[in-house]
Amino acid sequence: MTDSAQNQRHQARMARKKALIDASIARADQSKGLLLVLTGNGKGKSSSAFGMVARSLGHGMKVGVCQFLKSRTDTGEEAFFRQHANCEWHVLGDGFTWETQNREQDIATSQRGWTVAQRMLADDSYALVVLDELTYLLNYGYLDADQVLDAIAARPPMQHVVVTGRAASAALCELADTVAEIADVKHAYRAGIQAQKGIDL
Ligand code: ATP
Ligand code: MG
Repeated sequence: MTDSAQNQRHQARMARKKALIDASIARADQSKGLLLVLTGNGKGKSSSAFGMVARSLGHGMKVGVCQFLKSRTDTGEEAFFRQHANCEWHVLGDGFTWETQNREQDIATSQRGWTVAQRMLADDSYALVVLDELTYLLNYGYLDADQVLDAIAARPPMQHVVVTGRAASAALCELADTVAEIADVKHAYRAGIQAQKGIDL
């Protein structure tokens, strides 16, 4: 085939592709507050959520972040986003379950944290609410899953919510508009590399 024939075929193929993509974009004409669930064993769930925090703040939207489970307050994301007037940041954990080793304390901490999240989910001034590592609290039974799902479902219609954490339940995924499962193909930690600033914290 000559170069010119090949170029023509490419152009015709791309024109057909563009028509399909344009039609599909035109079909997606609705706007609503979304529930996104970022789950799976791979790295990138929380950092993806924080990417959407940056996007939202860039548009002048107000954002609330609830970090469940974790207790560390020295992360780069917290230092960065706390400087932003439109971002409200709460670290609501006592540490990992294998650190606290105290189920009753974990439950009490979870309930206190949930109260903060509930307030945000009932307030339409928050355009985006991030519930980071929430899945663990549901999976351990520290929070009542039905109550949590009801509160998320009853949030203001234009409010976006991002839930992160491994092993998202079928019910949570069912309620969500977008679910992404990040696969763990390889992680530097298993090669003995400690958590790196700017990458892991
Ligand atoms: P990140 O915050 O980096 O987006 P994540 O939210 O997907 O990660 P978490 O389970 O919340 O994953 O873990 C947080 C920390 O654990 C990060 O330091 C991350 O690099 C690390 N991590 C994530 N996935 C793995 C893995 N498969 N093996 C080892 N460490 C991991
Ligand atoms: Mg995470």
